[in-house]
Amino acid sequence: MSRELYENIYKQYKNSVLRINEEDMARYKCKPCGWVYDPKDHGNKPFSEWSGPCPKCGAPKSEFVKITNEGEGMSEEKEDMQKVHNSIMDFLKNNPSPPDEDMHALADKMGIDPHKFEGHVYMILGSILGAGRAKEKGFEEKEADSKELEMGIKVEMEHTTDPAISKRIALDHLAEIPDYYTRLLKMEKEAGIDVEAELE
Ligand SMILES: [Zn+2]
Repeated sequence: MSRELYENIYKQYKNSVLRINEEDMARYKCKPCGWVYDPKDHGNKPFSEWSGPCPKCGAPKSEFVKITNEGEGMSEEKEDMQKVHNSIMDFLKNNPSPPDEDMHALADKMGIDPHKFEGHVYMILGSILGAGRAKEKGFEEKEADSKELEMGIKVEMEHTTDPAISKRIALDHLAEIPDYYTRLLKMEKEAGIDVEAELE
C-alpha cells in the first residue's frame, strides 16, 4: 500500500476506532422537523461538539433528541452497513493491496459514493490493524523502536489504566507500522483537516 493510503487509514482509524466512542457516534434528531445530525456526515464530529442550529428549520440544538439503538429503522441501517462491510472484506481478501481504480469500480458496482466507500474501507482496515496483530506475527518488544514504543505506551494510556495493556496495544500497532506513533503525532497536528478533502 502507498504511504498516502496508510496516512488516510490512520486518519480514519483515529476518527472511527480510537477516539470515537459509542456516545460520540450517537445520532440526534431535530424534534420540530425530523432532520438528523449524524456524526458520520460531519467528519465524525460528535453531536456535543456541533453548535447547531438545525440547517433545515433553524431550531436550536436544545431541540434535538438522541436517537437510541431501539429507534425505528436503525437495525435495517445496521444490516445494510454490515452487508457493505462483508462485501468489502471479501474484496480485500482477494485484493490485499487494491489500486484506487479497483476500489472505485467496486464502489460503482455497489452503488456507493466513492468517498463514502473509502471511508468504509479505512474503517475496516483500521479495525484489522487494531486486532492483535503483534501476537499473530510473533512480534516482540525488542523488535520495536524503543522511542516509538515509549510514545505508544503514553498514547495508549488514554484508553486503559493498565500499563501492560497499553504496551500490548502499542506493540500491536508497531508490528504493523514501525513508525506508527510518529505518524499519529503528525496526524494529530493536522487535526481539523477534512478527511474527504484529503482523499481527493
Ligand atoms: Zn429542524
